[in-house]
Amino acid sequence: MSAYQLLQLMSQVLFVFITLVVTFRTVRRPLKTNVDTVLLFATIALIVAISWVDQVLGLNPGRVVSAATSSLLMALPYMLVRLVDDFTAPRRAIPRTAAVGLAAAVVSLWVLAPPYPGILVLLCVLYFVGFTCYVAGAFVKAARRSSGVTQRRMQAVAAGSLFLGTVILLAGISAATPSLSNGEGVVMTILGLLSGLFFFLGFAPPVWLRRAWQEPEVRAFLDRAASLPRMPDREAIVHELEQGAASSLGASNAVIGLWDAESGFMQYNLSRIPRELLPDQMIAGRAFITQEPVFSDNAERDDPEHAEVYRRSGARAILAAPISSGEKRLGVLAIYAAHSPIFADDDLLLVSLLANQAAVILESRALIDEAARVKALEEAARLKDDFLSAAAHDLKTPLTTMVAQAQLLERRARRNPTEPPNLEGIEALVKESLRLKRLVLELLDVARVEQGKLVNHREPVDLVELAREACARHSTTLHRYMLDAPGRLVEKYDSMRIMQLIDNLLENAAKYSPAGGDVCVRIRQDGASALLTVMDPGIGIPAADLLLLFDRFHRGSNVDDRRFSGMGLGLFICRGIVEQHGGSIWATSTGIGQGSTFHVVLPASGPINLASRQNPSSIDVEQTG
Ligand code: ADP
Repeated sequence: MSAYQLLQLMSQVLFVFITLVVTFRTVRRPLKTNVDTVLLFATIALIVAISWVDQVLGLNPGRVVSAATSSLLMALPYMLVRLVDDFTAPRRAIPRTAAVGLAAAVVSLWVLAPPYPGILVLLCVLYFVGFTCYVAGAFVKAARRSSGVTQRRMQAVAAGSLFLGTVILLAGISAATPSLSNGEGVVMTILGLLSGLFFFLGFAPPVWLRRAWQEPEVRAFLDRAASLPRMPDREAIVHELEQGAASSLGASNAVIGLWDAESGFMQYNLSRIPRELLPDQMIAGRAFITQEPVFSDNAERDDPEHAEVYRRSGARAILAAPISSGEKRLGVLAIYAAHSPIFADDDLLLVSLLANQAAVILESRALIDEAARVKALEEAARLKDDFLSAAAHDLKTPLTTMVAQAQLLERRARRNPTEPPNLEGIEALVKESLRLKRLVLELLDVARVEQGKLVNHREPVDLVELAREACARHSTTLHRYMLDAPGRLVEKYDSMRIMQLIDNLLENAAKYSPAGGDVCVRIRQDGASALLTVMDPGIGIPAADLLLLFDRFHRGSNVDDRRFSGMGLGLFICRGIVEQHGGSIWATSTGIGQGSTFHVVLPASGPINLASRQNPSSIDVEQTG
């Protein structure tokens, strides 16, 4: 036996072997794709069998044998077009044209006797090459659209189609030009062998090959898995898990349903639209209820109640597995594809593994959330403790002074009841009790800030008028208040709180400018915003404190408690007032000793009031005595 004959025999044995394998698989699961694959390989095996019989009997191929072999050969493109139909959605005209072409070829081959006229051979070759090229193109396109194992399978089929087309092209050329037919027999046999192999790998890949093709995507998914629990929110984690699971199986989509024991519903995010379903609804629900993986190659047939949903979301084949951690049911993972042959039975194992991985990730996330919740509770308890001790400490100082002062006054009055009242002592008592009252009010306001109940009744109020009043009230020998504002700026605010805000900023400006100087208060309207700035020439604010000043109890690092009394609550309350009005507040300072500026932006209703613009007033409110 020559090497060429051996090669021919090997390829023939291989085709017969592949036919047996795919037939066995089809008997176990008679899906349309499996049947179409068997038809393709059985046709090739039949051609091989006819040639064997021919060789064994040593006959010259007669008319019937030639017609039968040629007809079977012409059936191959049609079989391939059927498979294109299984894996993609070709235009309906294509399979019909292929069927008509096949019928015409078969009739001609049986009616006419060999040697066939050149024109018939040419038409047959054109039909064959044309359709195999179309099939290759369709699978290349499908490969581009898909990923992972599906992409590799589509590529293999595309290569198989090209090899088969080339074989027939060569056969046609050698029939037309017999002088060239020396070496191409070997080439054709090798190409035929390769095309069979590639079809086998693409249409019916053995389990080990599917696993090897799935491996890169599964590995990428597992590599990412460790970082998933730390993603910003659970929705983002679920989205990543869905994408990773779909690409691991070469499917177009996956969806995760999360079980909410409180509401008794399964929460899905279908095309980013949240949807609640009963736990036993849809095919995914079956996997959740039975706690077993489920495979449906035809979702509409297996769950007709939801046929419309499956059709709309392009879910013909579905693989679903429960996501559970021990006894705890967390949800379900469903992976779906528009074409059933994308999946195989043994993919159920992989889906279950991916669902287990999802369970680990979701459980880790739940633990992280729980730890954060416990930490937040501890932090709240610590803040409460800090708050109580700081409040107690700050209340103690004026209270101690008041008690001592009152006791002193009492002793004096007892000793000398006729002596005129000690006015200085009474004034000190009043001063300290006012300080105490202020501290208590601040504490009450802090609670209101947290409840969001600081700002109440809003009414039209003139911001300029409020600032003017405040400037007049706070003026001292040491501090001059320069008001730079339009004539009026009337907006709907809680006037009491806005006054409290301005008072606080003006008081701070004076308190933290111990050397005295001018404090500039500016009011402007800018479109739909009212801007208020208070600029002082005082001790300034270290850059590191600028953002923290508005937090509870925060005091600047350049502030000495003994020199500047305070609890660090005023600006926290100011921020509450501004934010509850829908505005914002911040501070700027060029550094220690360089003065500070506080900026407030409050919403204003509309364009600037022209009358007020034309008539701006710059008021110099000086100390009155
Ligand atoms: P308190 O004045 O009671 O400390 P505040 O909340 O009003 O509380 O202010 C918080 C901190 O912000 C102050 O301790 C101080 O460090 C800083 N601060 C506030 N206003 C000024 C200002 N005008 N100049 C410099 N620092 C300021």
